Amino acid sequence: MAQFDIIVIGTGTAGQTAAFDMAAEGYRVAIAENSETPGGVCALRGCQAKKWFYETMETVARSRHLLGKGITEPPRFSWQQIQTQKSAFTAKIPEGTISSLKGSDITYIPGQARFIDAQTLRIGATDYKTRYVIIAAGAIPGTLPIDGAQHMITSDDFLDLTSLPRRIAFIGGGFISFEFAHFATRLGGSSGNIHILEANDRPLQKMNPDIPFTLHQAGPLQWIWLSMEPDEFQISNHFISMRPV
Ligand SMILES: Cc1cc2nc3c(=O)[nH]c(=O)nc-3n(C[C@H](O)[C@H](O)[C@H](O)COP(=O)(O)OP(=O)(O)OC[C@H]3O[C@@H](n4cnc5c(N)ncnc54)[C@H](O)[C@@H]3O)c2cc1C
Repeated sequence: MAQFDIIVIGTGTAGQTAAFDMAAEGYRVAIAENSETPGGVCALRGCQAKKWFYETMETVARSRHLLGKGITEPPRFSWQQIQTQKSAFTAKIPEGTISSLKGSDITYIPGQARFIDAQTLRIGATDYKTRYVIIAAGAIPGTLPIDGAQHMITSDDFLDLTSLPRRIAFIGGGFISFEFAHFATRLGGSSGNIHILEANDRPLQKMNPDIPFTLHQAGPLQWIWLSMEPDEFQISNHFISMRPV
């Protein structure tokens, strides 16, 4: 049975950071990944993938701001081109992840890891002995107890949209909703048709209280900012209806 000092579960940012650091210290390190596309959320469906949308949105917004003040033509842009660039970038991540792990003498083991005991992991159909295990298994989207939840899409789906809907409601006023809502308002959604639904007394709860106010000043974004419990609204195909409270 193969023996390691450390097996890391998950090839996301957390798992890779731990694996590279431990390998650099001379430990025998393996890393397990059950996804067919190793690399984790940040690179494939999060921080890095969204940068293509962010950069275009920022350039468009700045150009519009300077229209008639040095910029002579309104900027033109293509959602499809952003998607093409993003996909070209993310397509290289899985192979790049595996080759950089191997380049640092980290054993890459595809398959779902499960504990057999404290020092034995079964990955796929094979058992491996290890002194330590680092669990860096990430998170998956939660399910919301909302009527019609099956009509919703997730941030993963948003980043793959082939065209941008003109009307969007984002459920949850966290930073991802805010970023995506700003992409949508500046890259195609018509003003007044992009909404964020927030259940708490203010969005962006974990940030300074002045940040939501500043963002509100900055953009033509509509917030539906109600203390709503999930059973107070329902989703049917393409529509959200609020129940009277
Ligand atoms: C749209 C979006 C934008 C974001 N923007 C930012 C940002 O700008 N800045 C920022 O700091 N953060 C951002 N984040 C958050 C950031 O992406 C995550 O915090 C980070 O990716 C989490 O990394 P992780 O390594 O913990 O988990 P993950 O990247 O989820 O990696 C976990 C891996 O473990 C694997 N795995 C799970 N269970 C097993 C198992 N049993 N066996 C084998 N493998 C398993 C999974 O397949 C996955 O590949 C964003 C997230 C999203 C969704």
